[in-house]
Amino acid sequence: MIAVAPDTDAGAKTAARGEVITRPAVVAWLRAFAAVVARDRELLTELDAAIGDADHGINMDRGMQAVLVKLDELGEPADGSVGALLKAVGMTLVSSVGGAAGPLYGTLFLQMGSAAGQASELTLAEWASAVAAGVAGAQARGQAELQDKTMIDALLPAVAALRAGAASGLSLAAALGRSAEAARQGMKATVPLVARKGRASYLGQRSAGHQDPGATSSWLLLETAAISLSAGTVP
Ligand code: ADP
Ligand code: MG
Repeated sequence: MIAVAPDTDAGAKTAARGEVITRPAVVAWLRAFAAVVARDRELLTELDAAIGDADHGINMDRGMQAVLVKLDELGEPADGSVGALLKAVGMTLVSSVGGAAGPLYGTLFLQMGSAAGQASELTLAEWASAVAAGVAGAQARGQAELQDKTMIDALLPAVAALRAGAASGLSLAAALGRSAEAARQGMKATVPLVARKGRASYLGQRSAGHQDPGATSSWLLLETAAISLSAGTVP
């Protein structure tokens, strides 16, 4: 599994003022996530073999490899907006990934991109709002609630932690670290649950006792964000 995020309390008392998430930082995050998905492809697929159809790692890897190609195509325009970048990622995932995860992650990035708008860099509060919009989009698309044993179980607590961090003036690094930790806890909490959405729900009670693959990839997304997006911002 990937390295532990930076100490979530490091820099917690540092004022968030002046810290921003730039377009190059978002590109670095997406590249890092692609690398982590490629590395953990077998793990994600094994988790899906237990309660699904053994393709989640394959699906996510195919999608993120397509995103890498798209990132190369887009380049790094000096005045590029974060929103346009995230929307392009969403479109790429929707068109390259079959199964449930493609439309769900695709919608997440599309809605996140719409919320991020034209800005070329986002404050922590703006980032939290964009992530919240993306997760709301994925939730609307899949109609999953908390404790349905899906990616939403990792994503919703992460959004709450990000928003709380922004509201209380945490540093970027601390807020991102706390959201990754909230996602990790949400992912772990899927283990005893009986699935109520997606393929795993066909198993009924037999889905209990297994960690949800989509919650695991969502944790990886937020763990990677904690490492990539705050790089260089903590004194
Ligand atoms: P498929 O289930 O079509 O094979 P994947 O294996 O790529 O697609 O993704 C499975 C993951 O998708 C699940 O572990 C779960 O987290 C997520 N998922 C499935 N259905 C939903 C839904 N309705 N809402 C949210 N997440 C879902
Ligand atoms: Mg599957």
